[in-house]
Amino acid sequence: MLESETYRIPYLGLKNGIHKYEFDADETFFSKFEQSLLLKAKVNYEVQLEKLSTHINLEIDLVGLVGTDCDRCGADLTSQIQGDFRVVVKFGDETSDLTDDLIVLGPSEHFVNLDQLFFEFSHLCLPVRNVHGNEFDCNQEALAALKKFKIKEKDEDIDPRWAALKNLK
Ligand SMILES: [Zn+2]
Repeated sequence: MLESETYRIPYLGLKNGIHKYEFDADETFFSKFEQSLLLKAKVNYEVQLEKLSTHINLEIDLVGLVGTDCDRCGADLTSQIQGDFRVVVKFGDETSDLTDDLIVLGPSEHFVNLDQLFFEFSHLCLPVRNVHGNEFDCNQEALAALKKFKIKEKDEDIDPRWAALKNLK
């Protein structure tokens, strides 16, 4: 799992209760992930950490502007993303990645690492189809070329984000 010193919260020594943090990420951050679809990005994350004696509740509120390739014409496309995600952090014998909104931290961990969460949640906010709102806004030359090419292609319409997420591990 990728970890950075920028996107993590030390939880040892934190008092029980609510703590708030704010982070910004741009394309430099996303470029560290091979599966990233975000070529340009300016995303803000508001993180609320609620420390309880048994576990931690995380709430991540993100808003941003991201640049991807248009799925239809391949040209640059800017999309607005926004989302609100909750994660429960528990303590166990072994650290585990995010599964069903739950993270387990092993006894040797000192930080809640946010890299993977920021990456996954930002991609989950992308529109179902990453395309220009109107076909006329697409790059017409690219479209014409693609149409010729696509006649031969099978109609296998897997959302690239799900494909990317499946390859995370
Ligand atoms: Zn397009």
